[in-house]
Amino acid sequence: MQFLRSLLKTVTGVSSDNLTIERMGRLLTASSHSPLLTRRRALVILSRIRLLSFAAAILYLLGIFLDALNFEEEIFNKLAIYRCTAAAMMLMLMFGIRKADSLNSAHRAIFIFMGINIVFQAFFQPLVLPDYFQSITDLPTAGYAIYPFLIAACLAIFPLSIKEIFLAVVLFLTAELLIVTLATTELNPQPGLGVLISLLSACALCSYSAISQMSYMVSLVEQASVDSLTNCYSRNSGEEILDVQYRIATRQQAYLSIVFLDIDDFKIINDRYGHETGDRVLSTAASSIRHNLRDSDISIRWGGEEFVMVLPHTDADGATRAVRRLRASGLGNRPDGSPLTASIGIAELTSAQTTCWRDLVDLADAEMYKAKTAGKNDFRVYQMPKPVTSKTA
Ligand code: GH3
Ligand code: MG
Ligand code: MG
Repeated sequence: MQFLRSLLKTVTGVSSDNLTIERMGRLLTASSHSPLLTRRRALVILSRIRLLSFAAAILYLLGIFLDALNFEEEIFNKLAIYRCTAAAMMLMLMFGIRKADSLNSAHRAIFIFMGINIVFQAFFQPLVLPDYFQSITDLPTAGYAIYPFLIAACLAIFPLSIKEIFLAVVLFLTAELLIVTLATTELNPQPGLGVLISLLSACALCSYSAISQMSYMVSLVEQASVDSLTNCYSRNSGEEILDVQYRIATRQQAYLSIVFLDIDDFKIINDRYGHETGDRVLSTAASSIRHNLRDSDISIRWGGEEFVMVLPHTDADGATRAVRRLRASGLGNRPDGSPLTASIGIAELTSAQTTCWRDLVDLADAEMYKAKTAGKNDFRVYQMPKPVTSKTA
């Protein structure tokens, strides 16, 4: 275990004290990532794909001039058609992913980008590299021979989890083996093995780069998005998460509950026992909130002693159960030993008919305010007003 930790420290640059099992899990697979991290990573991958596909389109077209110098007309014409087609597909990919922001779109974009490059290689390989291993030393075809290494290098540009990069490398190497074996007229095992080992080493280095990018991204997003006193999401990141969750829930017509919690008479704690004691009480309350939520739920420090909890796929009854559970387990104690209480409001998307996440949070806030003005230490659930039926004479 210690060896694994020091190895991971070398690979990720994160000190072993900070390398918890949870963190290592986050490097291994994307399934444990917070919605915020997932969205930021998807945006980075998609913006890099846009840049790369544009650069690739230009390079495919520029290569036509080099081919004109190196190849006779018949081969040149075919290569020019392949190059124009690949460039057009790259441009289509670039424009096609303009508005995407989900991880699925990012995975799809990487797959299509790698796919276009590999299919281009499958077409040019039998044409210009019938004897791949001799072509490496042959000037006109050398550029084509190093092409698989260029494709591998593209993998280094994306922040990817260990599982994602492993899958990408396995798919890539399988495609390469098939293309080179099928296109080469005379198979020569020795240099063949040499090329394969070099390609494997290139993939290993690129995987290292992709995973360490991911590691830095996880740390940066965590540092920037979590409030240090309460370990809940900060308001800014919370709003970004709410935006994503609201859009997902509306699209899927799924339940989405918002719980707005305001601690009762918190100012008195500060006034009587000082700010530091207030901080400690706040931190204990936040820890209780986080531990009473499911892993998929999100807790946000909305303001000083106000918290917003986002409960995806949870209807108003489910949210009420979660609130009852939280109230039963408590938020910790006040410095005088009495239990710390809060006023809570709940609003659920499908029964609220709001048009944006801000309205839904406002509804939960208004319910919290009703509980507060009715005597505190209670909760209210938003119910849509019944339509007024007009009496006809
Ligand atoms: P109510 O029951 O009506 O909600 O009363 P309250 O005292 O909880 O609410 P009020 O809005 O009057 O006061 C909130 C207090 O929370 C005021 C502010 O000093 C305190 N506060 C806000 N942020 C922090 C913080 O980070 N640490 C500490 N110690 N106190 C904070
Ligand atoms: Mg308040
Ligand atoms: Mg308060």
